[in-house]
Amino acid sequence: QARLLFPMMGLLRVALDLQTSQSLFARIFQYLDLSPAIIDAPNARAVSPAALGRVEFVGVDFRYPDTEARSRLTLKNISFVVEPGQYAAFVGPSGSGKTTISYLIPRMYEASKGHIMFAGENVTDLQQDSLVDHIGVVSQETYLFHATIADNLRYAKPDATDAELEAAARAANIHKTIVSFPDGYDTMVGERGYRLSGGEKQRIAIARVLLKDPAVLVLDEATSALDTVSERIVQKALDVAARNRTTIAIAHRLSTVINADVIFVIDGGEIVDRGTHVELMGRDGVYARLVAEQIRMTTA
Ligand code: ATP
Repeated sequence: QARLLFPMMGLLRVALDLQTSQSLFARIFQYLDLSPAIIDAPNARAVSPAALGRVEFVGVDFRYPDTEARSRLTLKNISFVVEPGQYAAFVGPSGSGKTTISYLIPRMYEASKGHIMFAGENVTDLQQDSLVDHIGVVSQETYLFHATIADNLRYAKPDATDAELEAAARAANIHKTIVSFPDGYDTMVGERGYRLSGGEKQRIAIARVLLKDPAVLVLDEATSALDTVSERIVQKALDVAARNRTTIAIAHRLSTVINADVIFVIDGGEIVDRGTHVELMGRDGVYARLVAEQIRMTTA
């Protein structure tokens, strides 16, 4: 459920810009039995362009609000900096807390302790809409509204021209697929609409990111679901999307981790190691074990 929620949250914030989407916004929150809980501080500011693209966690502890008071912390004392334009990869065993970190960047939840800095400011001092405007998300679950492909793309940029839609779709490697559909960009998708494959949906999500052109891309990499050919196509599109912006990747694939500027190794809600691939391989830690496991799995 959380995975589905994440892309939707960002999308819905954008959807709010569209005058007609207020009721849709309310309906989906109703459906999820959630309220948009975070309210701007009275003196909240828009994100300032000075340090745009910089993301920092300072001593962040996090406990999911719906868990019992005595249950364990999901994140413990997380501190890291990702500089503008860097590609950061978070790796670690399943359930270690990687996705939770990605939820805290657009302030989907509040840190229980410590603080999260976006473009040099504490996210609690920022206007939520402004924060979310600067973050793009590509995750394993891409939410498509029951609307045309063009409309689904325009959620990312309501005033985009047809030429802009096409340019983004071409860069995301999805244009040719779209024009092969019976109604092209006017093909209805989403619930009861034309069914897109997982890889096609991901490329729609990438096209949205390109249209939105955010300073920070949060990428929750697919664990499986794609065949080799579509995976390669998605990967190429992701490489384009990551260019010229900070990328924070919840990485499951060794191939995308190797070239990261910095890798954070998460285990049991803590950062247990950090460095480049070469640095981490030189230590006999969790990272080297994860790599060995992955190699064993792909050669088995
Ligand atoms: P994976 O690699 O399998 O995706 P992950 O490292 O991304 O795992 P998270 O999804 O961040 O891990 O989960 C960390 C912990 O938080 C897990 O124990 C998970 O069960 C718990 N958790 C995740 N979402 C929620 C939620 N909405 N409410 C309560 N607990 C949650």
